[in-house]
Amino acid sequence: MRWSWRIGKLAGINVYMHATFLLLILFILVAYWTEGHSLSLALSGVLFVLVIFGCIVLHELGHALTARRYGIQTRDIVLLPIGGVARLERMPEDPRQELRVALAGPAVNVLIAGALFLLLALLGRAPGWKEMEDVRWVGGNFLTKLMVTNLWLVGFNVLPAFPMDGGRVLRALLATRMEYTRATQAAAHVGQAMAFLFGLIGIILHDPFLLFIALFVWMGASDEAAMVQMRTSLGGIPVQRVMLTDFRTLTADDSLSSAVDHILAGWQQDFPVVFGDHVLGVLTREDLLRTLAQEGSNVPVRDAMRRDVPAVDSHDMLEKAVATLRGSNCRSIPVQHSGRLVGMLTLEHVGEFIMIQSALRQAHRAAHAHNSP
Ligand SMILES: [Zn+2]
Repeated sequence: MRWSWRIGKLAGINVYMHATFLLLILFILVAYWTEGHSLSLALSGVLFVLVIFGCIVLHELGHALTARRYGIQTRDIVLLPIGGVARLERMPEDPRQELRVALAGPAVNVLIAGALFLLLALLGRAPGWKEMEDVRWVGGNFLTKLMVTNLWLVGFNVLPAFPMDGGRVLRALLATRMEYTRATQAAAHVGQAMAFLFGLIGIILHDPFLLFIALFVWMGASDEAAMVQMRTSLGGIPVQRVMLTDFRTLTADDSLSSAVDHILAGWQQDFPVVFGDHVLGVLTREDLLRTLAQEGSNVPVRDAMRRDVPAVDSHDMLEKAVATLRGSNCRSIPVQHSGRLVGMLTLEHVGEFIMIQSALRQAHRAAHAHNSP
């Protein structure tokens, strides 16, 4: 992430701090200074915020380490003024695993709050409800403030709305009963309804903080819905609409020099090797170059081609075909229909198709914006 500094490494995961985080520290310093005009008070305010963010890092570590149990790595943890983000490589596909990963974060704050309560009780200063409700941000007992803030973090994070953990919990629960994309859409709708409610209450109570949360939740919900829309649109398109139909083929008996001729004559990098309409394998550019360097150009294609290449059907949906393509470690794979080679599916082409689709969608949205009063 740009504008971030690495501040350390925990359990093998780099922790970054975003530049805007400094603005928060500055804000706290100024707010405390105007309240008490005392430097020690202002510094204790900053210390409190830093300790809170320590708790947030532990919260993110809860997500990251639970995900690691399911073989999912975390790219990094970034601290923003609004909280932390653990950037997981991917989300678990099993809803029960996603549920555990989502719940692990708030669970850490519950543990911290519980430990602080025990500590306060041991010190003979266990706070009652009244004291927890009236907690003062300037001054007051440090440990009590810390405990109450951790409980706040739990409450905020379990709100059933994206991008909060509660949104993922809701999606995971729905996904055990319905299809994943529909579950996401339903959870996103709940999130938007909540954002609307927050916004309304914020306006009635003249509370800018609630308005800010409403905006944040609304954006999170629409982001998640848009991502699902994208996946759904990939899923609804058959391979034949995106596959390459203008390409060269080789036979197993061709020499590598004819593949070289094809490469020099055009832009194609990988060639299906065929016997009639039947696909025997694929000659990739890498394999071609390696064999050329080792054995020269008179070698037949059969000695250099890959045979373990999966094929997809032209009537398959793109989402499934792209997963096959990604899993194959090839740039392109042959597309067949009833046993005959009918096209090639390449990662570059799929990427271009997605770009064109999203450009068209933007144009569509812009047209709508122009039409609305
Ligand atoms: Zn979380």
